[in-house]
Amino acid sequence: MASINAIGLKCINCGEKYPISPMFEGCPRCQDSQFSSSVSVCYDYEHVGKDLTREKFSSWQGVGLWRFAPLLPVSPENQVSLHEGGTPLIKCERPSEDLGLRVHIKDESRNPTWSYKDRLACVATSKALEFGAKVTTIASTGNHGAATAAYAAKANLDCVVFTVPTTPLAMKSLMQSYGAKVVATTWKGRFEFISHCVRNLDWYPLGTYGTPLPTGNPYGVEGYKTIAYEICLQLNWDVPDVVLCPVANGEGFFGIWKGFHEAKMLGLIDRLPKMVAVELVGGPLANAIRKNLRFPEPIGARESVAFSINGTISSFAALKAIRDSGGTAVEVSDDDIMTAQEILGQEGLYAEPASASSAAGLYQMAQTGQLAGISSAVCIVTSSGLKDPGSISDKKGDIPVIEPGLKQLATVLKECYHFDPKII
Ligand SMILES: *Cc1c(COP(=O)(O)O)cnc(C)c1O
Ligand SMILES: [Zn+2]
Repeated sequence: MASINAIGLKCINCGEKYPISPMFEGCPRCQDSQFSSSVSVCYDYEHVGKDLTREKFSSWQGVGLWRFAPLLPVSPENQVSLHEGGTPLIKCERPSEDLGLRVHIKDESRNPTWSYKDRLACVATSKALEFGAKVTTIASTGNHGAATAAYAAKANLDCVVFTVPTTPLAMKSLMQSYGAKVVATTWKGRFEFISHCVRNLDWYPLGTYGTPLPTGNPYGVEGYKTIAYEICLQLNWDVPDVVLCPVANGEGFFGIWKGFHEAKMLGLIDRLPKMVAVELVGGPLANAIRKNLRFPEPIGARESVAFSINGTISSFAALKAIRDSGGTAVEVSDDDIMTAQEILGQEGLYAEPASASSAAGLYQMAQTGQLAGISSAVCIVTSSGLKDPGSISDKKGDIPVIEPGLKQLATVLKECYHFDPKII
């Protein structure tokens, strides 16, 4: 299928339609001082869906997530890839037993820059080529910056990343290694720089920069849909009851929901999962649900190990995905997250704290009696623990050093690890 099926943008709130264009500040018709709504890419679904069967969809071929190109907004000549996507869906035995349901982890740490932001950066950067952009930019605590930098390198574009001074060394060196021009500044300062450069210099943003609610890059959000498509294929069309995802702005969360929604519309699946947003305690989506708000309001800043999801606002799109799917938002603490990181470790998976929060959220739902009637769950692990190794070594302490000697070995195994292999 050579032609591209994307036919326009549409506001997810008022339904107003716009042509495919560089439109990064949401729907102008809906925007006021407190509210902004995302626009989302529309396709010629009749054309895509004509003769589409599960078999046919399963046999779509392509490099990386471009296997799903008929449902992505970029023409073939501009599709940049680092072989993102195609990540494993792993059945987790101990959590399944603990909670009495089938638990799968979608391990997005296997992406080219070790986080699910690669799916966004892949599609958004490809679209940047289509628009003739020369410079891509992003404000990021790390993962978004690393992904933006890598795809800019691959697409041979200049890239300026604004980050915060506190981002871990691993994140800094990743962004630098791809040749991005990385600058650390204040949270607010980043948005001011980006909006100036987007409006006056035609820089191309891969994310949000200062509307009252985050609206994101609508083309990038399309990349996240492919997570839902892959889950459908990997579970052989047996849609999970719930999908849990760590949420900040909610672009990933909304994108995954959109993917399931499209799969159902195209007749590939016959039901939809409930979407569960996992936030830090006091998160903006949980707050909006508690107060029954029409859209999220900002919350106060707080400290957390899960810096990748530690924002003070979330999007209307994320709240809409929760409500449209009959889902919810659950709140987890740093302790819950560190416990979940250990549980995942026991499954052979190493998750960045923010990304382990999806598993923490599932345990939280069990504790609060929210898993009644639920028999299957998919937790999205959005990034690798290698992004922030300090968080786990802080918890586990230093590795013990001993003199060579069986007696010393027996002692240290017993004292530090409560393990007694009867060496002596
Ligand atoms: C960015 C990020 C998220 C949140 O994604 P949003 O689309 O902003 O909700 C979750 N986990 C990790 C590891 C991230 O880097
Ligand atoms: Zn609108």
